[in-house]
Amino acid sequence: MTAAAESRRQRVSTRNEQAGDAQPKASERVTNSRRAEVRLLGAGKSNPAKCRLRLALLNDVIVLAYHAVSGSWPADLAVSPERLHDQLELLVRRGYRGTTFHDAVTVPARGKALAVTFDDAYGSVLEQANPILSSLGLPGTIFVVTDFADDERSLCWPGIDHWLAGPHESELRGLSWSQLEGLADAGWEIGSHTLSHPRLTRLDDDALRRELRKSRAACEHALRQPCRSLAYPYGDVDRRVVTEARDAGYTAAGTLPRRLEGPTALTWPRIGIYRRDSLGRFRLKVSPAFRRLREIPRPA
Ligand SMILES: [Zn+2]
Repeated sequence: MTAAAESRRQRVSTRNEQAGDAQPKASERVTNSRRAEVRLLGAGKSNPAKCRLRLALLNDVIVLAYHAVSGSWPADLAVSPERLHDQLELLVRRGYRGTTFHDAVTVPARGKALAVTFDDAYGSVLEQANPILSSLGLPGTIFVVTDFADDERSLCWPGIDHWLAGPHESELRGLSWSQLEGLADAGWEIGSHTLSHPRLTRLDDDALRRELRKSRAACEHALRQPCRSLAYPYGDVDRRVVTEARDAGYTAAGTLPRRLEGPTALTWPRIGIYRRDSLGRFRLKVSPAFRRLREIPRPA
């Protein structure tokens, strides 16, 4: 580990200890969760189905997928700061504890875990989302399209390019590597969202490998820390892409929505949250019944 990475790890560790003063420590949470499981297993002898459902809710993982945060940009991928705050506060009040995307999908759940992810690395994530997550004691995970962090031009690909040269063009400003390093210092995970944001299933093998491997290497070179997580652009993924992602060294990857059987750590079904999602719709999207419905395999 480099001196810079070690220094960052120590700063994050100290901050986490300070933030944890008013909250139970991880070991206590595990113990509390285990006690609750034992109580339920005892009660479950009379109603096993109810017991299983409650056990599943005790050890639950929610992974949310946002993009930009803006009060004025009328794009569906931009949620307002107020909505973001209210949505996350709702889950914190329900007992969910923040974690990074990688830990959420690779470490077996003990208690209620919440990973808040942001795709594309819009500037508004640093300016608007970071203070909100920080106030709620939540780390974030951001997936960066590395070619844009390299040269700091406006984000541009099919789906958002029509906002260029208009009154909201400034919303397409992406985060630079130094800004992303600031988020890493604050405890965020920085993952890859490929080099150029293509539909990965449409690429030939060479181009696919290049998008996955070079973007991971760019993250690791710029931030001097491991890049273990990936978000598939447009949630576009098939078995060939998953195999290449694994071979490229990723150990966690998010889809949007899930289109393969699973979930697995490399095809994790994140819940996409958009501007149109009122607090009522958000409650529905994060409800266990709705999430279970999304996991029913679809025909290929
Ligand atoms: Zn994207």
